[in-house]
Amino acid sequence: MIPNRSPWIQQLKRTRAVVPLDTNANTDVAIVGGGIAGVTTAFFILRNTTQNVILLEADKIAHGATGHNAGQIASYFERPLLELIKEFGAELAIEGQRSIESAWLLLDQIVAETKMQTPLYRFTGYAGLSTFDQVVNHLKHNRYRVDYKLLPESIVMADNWDLLSKIPKEYKDLFSVAPQKNVLELLETKNTDYVAALGFQKGCMNSALFSEELIVYLSKAYKKRFSFYEGSPVKHIRLKKDHANLKIRSHTMRASRVVLCTNGFEHFTLKNEAGKPINTKFHHSVAGRIGYMSGYLEPLKHPPTAISYFNKTKERGADPTGESYFYLTRRPHEHTDRTPHNLVCAGGPEKVLPNGATYARSDSCPKDMKNTINDFLRDSYNKYPASEATFSFCWHGLMGYTPNGVRRVGPEPRNPVLLYNLGCNGVGILPSIFGGKHISRFLKGEKVEKTIFDPLDQESKTTN
Ligand SMILES: Cc1cc2nc3c(=O)[nH]c(=O)nc-3n(C[C@H](O)[C@H](O)[C@H](O)COP(=O)(O)OP(=O)(O)OC[C@H]3O[C@@H](n4cnc5c(N)ncnc54)[C@H](O)[C@@H]3O)c2cc1C
Repeated sequence: MIPNRSPWIQQLKRTRAVVPLDTNANTDVAIVGGGIAGVTTAFFILRNTTQNVILLEADKIAHGATGHNAGQIASYFERPLLELIKEFGAELAIEGQRSIESAWLLLDQIVAETKMQTPLYRFTGYAGLSTFDQVVNHLKHNRYRVDYKLLPESIVMADNWDLLSKIPKEYKDLFSVAPQKNVLELLETKNTDYVAALGFQKGCMNSALFSEELIVYLSKAYKKRFSFYEGSPVKHIRLKKDHANLKIRSHTMRASRVVLCTNGFEHFTLKNEAGKPINTKFHHSVAGRIGYMSGYLEPLKHPPTAISYFNKTKERGADPTGESYFYLTRRPHEHTDRTPHNLVCAGGPEKVLPNGATYARSDSCPKDMKNTINDFLRDSYNKYPASEATFSFCWHGLMGYTPNGVRRVGPEPRNPVLLYNLGCNGVGILPSIFGGKHISRFLKGEKVEKTIFDPLDQESKTTN
C-alpha cells in the first residue's frame, strides 16, 4: 500500500493545534475554504477594504488541492485558448488570459508586502509538442497573443521534422527552427517524438507552505479584523437579502457576505431565501477528477524547471482536448535530513470521480499510477537516474472541474450576498490569486467589468 504522501504537506511541519469555531459569531465577510483561494482572498479583502473577515476551514489550512498539486506556476487554461475565444469572443477570452498572467504581479506583491520566506522559483518553462495539430493550434494561439498585445510564447521547431514545410505561411513570423537535438535539450528528453518546444514564463512554489505562511501573517497583521478556524466545516448557508446565516457545527455565524473558496461544491447545503432558488445541485456540474503524482530526490545539480509533454497517444483524457500529457517539475527541496536536494515530481494520470462518489484524501495511491509515472520518466526524462528512481513521495489530489474549465469568480447572479472563487481545474494557483484580488474589488464596491470568470445565471436554472 502506498500512502498519500505529498511533499508540500511534509514541508509544513505543523505544530499549531486545530482550533474550531466554538461560539456564535458575526462578521462582514465569511470565507469558506482555507486553500490558496481562501487565503489569498482574505489577503486582498483585508488589504483593500476595511471589512472584518472570518475564514472557516473544514479540515486544516492548505490540506486540499493546494497541498496536493504539482506546485507548478503556469498561466495557461486547462482548455485551449482557441476554444475560449469561440465561447466568449476574442476580446473577453484574451482579457481572461491577461488576468491570469496579471496574477504573477499579484504574487510578487504578496511576497514583497508580507516578506514571505516560502521559496518561489521563476524561469522559462517548456512544453514539448509532438503532433502537427498541437503545433498549429499553438501557432494560432500565438497569433492571437501578438494581435492582442500579449507577449508571444517562443516556439522552436525541429529542422528535421517532415511536416515543417506544411506549416501555413501566415505563421512564419511566430517560430524559429533549430536542430532537433536543441529542441530535445530544452525539453530535457531523449524522446525524438517531440518536434517543437514552446517556451514561456513558469515557476515553482509549494502553495501549501505559501498559504500557511500567509495565514499566519494575516492573523498577526490584522489581529482586530481577521480570525480563522480550522476543523470548522460549514454545513448550511442560508442567504437573506442583506446577509447570510452559516451553520458550523453547533454554532451559527451571521455574515454580510460569504465567499465560497471550496474548490468545488461539496458537503453543504445552500438556500436562497431572498430571491430565485439557487441550484443546490450545481455542484454536480463541478466534476471531480483525481490527479496522481510521484516525486523523487536527487542531488542538487540542475536548475529548477517545469516542463509539460504533449505526446502522441490519445488514450486518456487528462487534457480535455483528448491528448495525453505529463508534466514535470524540478526544484530545490529541503528534505528531513537537511542536505540540499532537488525534488523531481511528475504527474499526468487522472481518474474521473464518478458522480456522487466521495473522494477520500486518506486513500492510498494505486501502484499502477506510480508505475505509469515511472515509465514516463524513464522513457522521456534524460536525467532519470541510471539505477531506478526511489519515490519518496506519491500523492493524489482532487480537482473540481467547472463545465467550461474556467474558474468561477464573482457574485452569484441570484443573490450577491454570496460570491465564488472556486473551480480548481487543473491549473489553479494563479487563477486563485487573481480571483482573490477580483473578489476584493466587488467587496470594495468598485464597478467591475464583465469577465469570462463571471458566475452564470443559467447555472442556477434547475432547482431541487
Ligand atoms: C494533482 C493536482 C495537480 C495540480 N497541479 C497544479 C499545478 O501544477 N499548477 C496549478 O496552478 N494548479 C495545479 N493544481 C490545481 C491547484 O492546486 C488548485 O487549483 C488550487 O490549489 C485550488 O485551491 P483552492 O483553494 O481553490 O482549493 P483547495 O486547496 O482544495 O481548498 C479548498 C478548501 O475548502 C475546504 N472546504 C470545502 N468544503 C468546505 C466546507 N463546507 N466548509 C469549510 N471548508 C470547506 C477544503 O477542506 C479545502 O481545504 C493541481 C491540482 C491537483 C489536485
